Amino acid sequence: NKQIIFPDYVRGFPKESNFKLTTTTIDLQLPEGSTSVLVKNLYLSCDPYMRICMGKPEPLSSSLVPPYETGVPIVGLGVSKVIDSGHPDYKKGDLLWGLVGWEEYSVITLTLYSHFKIHHTDVPLSYYTGLLGMPGMTAYAGFYEVCSPKKGETVFVSAASGAVGQLVGQFAKLMGCYVVGSAGSKEKKKFGFNDAFNYKEEKDLSAALKRCFPEGIDIYFENVGGKMLDAVLINMKLHGRVAVCGMISQYNLEDPEGVHNLPTILYKRIQIQGFGVCDFYDKYPKFLDFVLPHIREGRITYVEDIAEGFESGPSCLLGLFEGKNVGNQLFVVARE
Ligand code: NDP
Repeated sequence: NKQIIFPDYVRGFPKESNFKLTTTTIDLQLPEGSTSVLVKNLYLSCDPYMRICMGKPEPLSSSLVPPYETGVPIVGLGVSKVIDSGHPDYKKGDLLWGLVGWEEYSVITLTLYSHFKIHHTDVPLSYYTGLLGMPGMTAYAGFYEVCSPKKGETVFVSAASGAVGQLVGQFAKLMGCYVVGSAGSKEKKKFGFNDAFNYKEEKDLSAALKRCFPEGIDIYFENVGGKMLDAVLINMKLHGRVAVCGMISQYNLEDPEGVHNLPTILYKRIQIQGFGVCDFYDKYPKFLDFVLPHIREGRITYVEDIAEGFESGPSCLLGLFEGKNVGNQLFVVARE
């Protein structure tokens, strides 16, 4: 059983040496009386929140994402196939997505919303690490529940080409909003939004936003934080809403950057709300009912960045912080 171990907590930008590949043996049968499930991992997902788990445990972030345990496999989200089951809801051959170790086989204990059985296999199985998994639920809950959008509103999304961002943009378009995205390369700008800009090429982010939103922004779906948030605040409309989904530009910094334009929140009476997808998993069945017809009828598409091979996990995860991924980043451990 190949495993990728998390040796110790990370400061600053993570490196390949923060991961250790090992091989152990595993019994491919559960002991008598076990209520766990033994799975073979097929697709494993790389998600920015994992960097928060790799940092020294601290009470502020731990209330949203628990820190990793050292000396054991990295834990992430994945799509897996049941090999043996002591749980009444699962039998051999069933597919599920949820939290697993970065290893070829895992023994998992099922808790509320830790794992979801996969019932629809007419769509790519890898989608359950993205569009039909945690990032999809994040975009859905963040946009519809937190942003409370209305037709005709102006929406700005950062990290617009990523696992979450590309969906927020498509949901906003379905709603009849005017949507602009920012991303870090020319290639990533082509995501079918009304407009987009490459934030790395803009000398003045505020001027770029002013150019895209001459009348201001109603809704900002925040994925990056830092300088972008500062620039957005002064371009918000009166009574605008900001859904704080993530702040990836800050995860590797020991001292998060300051935001200078905070008084604008008062002057423009802006509503800012952070949210965690974990608080919305009870809506997962409703999300599937909503999104599956859109996928099947071609109204929603999804870009994935799929790496081959278990060993590619660490470099794929590190790549998120350099913008190397185009779309949802995952890697293939086994195809069946
Ligand atoms: P993405 O697929 O968007 O990958 C991350 C992207 O972030 C990179 O491709 C890169 O794109 C961009 N990025 C990296 N570093 C920086 C930087 N310093 N400044 C600006 N952009 C940067 O990831 P996800 O869609 O999975 O996640 C997007 C955000 O949503 C993250 O902040 C994540 O933590 C958050 N999130 C929050 C959840 C919640 O429950 N609140 C759940 C899931 C995700 P580019 O080339 O454009 O720079």
